[in-house]
Amino acid sequence: MKYRKMGDKIKWEVSALGFGAMRLPTLEVEKDGEKKNVIDEKQSIDMIRYAIDHGCNYVDTAWTYMDRKSEELVGRALQDGYREKVHLVTKLPIGQGFVNKKEDFNKILDTQLERLQTNYLDIYLLHGLSRNSFEKVKDLKIMEKMEQAKADGKINYMGFSFHDSFNTFKRIIDFYDWDACQVQFNYMDVNFQAGTEGIKYAAGKGIAVIIMEPLRGGKLFIDVKNLNENSPEIKKILDESKVKRSLPNWALQYVWNHKEVSVVLSGMSAMNQVVENIESANNSGINILTNEELQTIEDLKNAFAKHIFVVPCTTCRYCMPCPQGVNIPILFNILNQFNQYGENTRAGFTNYYKSLPKTQEELEKSGKKDIGSANLCIQCGECLEKCPQQIEIPDELEKVRLIFEEGKKVTDFY
Ligand code: SF4
Ligand code: SF4
Repeated sequence: MKYRKMGDKIKWEVSALGFGAMRLPTLEVEKDGEKKNVIDEKQSIDMIRYAIDHGCNYVDTAWTYMDRKSEELVGRALQDGYREKVHLVTKLPIGQGFVNKKEDFNKILDTQLERLQTNYLDIYLLHGLSRNSFEKVKDLKIMEKMEQAKADGKINYMGFSFHDSFNTFKRIIDFYDWDACQVQFNYMDVNFQAGTEGIKYAAGKGIAVIIMEPLRGGKLFIDVKNLNENSPEIKKILDESKVKRSLPNWALQYVWNHKEVSVVLSGMSAMNQVVENIESANNSGINILTNEELQTIEDLKNAFAKHIFVVPCTTCRYCMPCPQGVNIPILFNILNQFNQYGENTRAGFTNYYKSLPKTQEELEKSGKKDIGSANLCIQCGECLEKCPQQIEIPDELEKVRLIFEEGKKVTDFY
């Protein structure tokens, strides 16, 4: 494993790869007549411990991850001496509406320590700060609570994770003497949210920069077996490159190439991803990519922009659950995949779309609460605030409906 500096204020070195516990593997179980997905505990613990055994010393979780079950799982994975081998990080869910008064801070932090079976956190982040949640941080005087928690020995370092514009990012950075910040960064998003300018600004102040979504929620990956027929341009770029790398490896190396970056989080959902990402981290470095390799990444970026994304959804599920039972991320996934694979795959995607419940009665009959189609959206707008990618969810859902129900073309809208 390669290790990197954690900014100027945090006094430990961090593994290039960190384990993000937000996309753990799941199993379908039936409980009280209802089918639902729960964390595949054995596989998840094996993956986390494998990563630590191979040098990962940073584990990141959050109150909201995996339907609020991630922290408990991480707590169990870190038994048997594993807690001492890692820097453990979780987040105050202030950007997700769980902190509404000052007293919520201690209640939530103490619950998190209990779930994680630990006495202290190496870093505590304010989760998903945006213009609105930043106002809440100020109104509720959250930094006073953070400082008290530090004085009480419950947290060692303080930071925030972020989803909003660069200007808001700069305002938050300048507001406090932060130790760390966590931002979305990948070769598609250099000018989105904090972006390249943001990581330079934070690192310039000695703040450790933690990267999330290096593969844009897995979207910068296409299974190689689908590359030839469906994405000829991407296959051609990979074939013509002298340096051979998988798509995830190209994406990760791009991020590690930046000197401003400390640790890169990958939300891994299968053991083979852990093994491959550790291998990639072992071969990572700062400024090691040649101009030719950087050109390959630029070509991939252009090809992805053209063929793959019409809605920039990262499947983070922050918008879920929708009160009407709309499965927002799945619907955007269907649309993006249909765009990637083309009109001749319309029948398959349309059938899938039409198999999703389109009335509340059908949803109830399915025994699940959140698998509804776009027809169930009543445009209430409740999801809009929650989306870190600032997607106009109700409008985009209407386009999904028109494409799969009324046969409109993707090019009619994008
Ligand atoms: S706007 Fe539509 S998708 Fe969003 S919360 Fe309301 S019903 Fe659900
Ligand atoms: S629509 Fe937004 S909040 Fe919902 S899963 Fe996609 S990126 Fe996340």
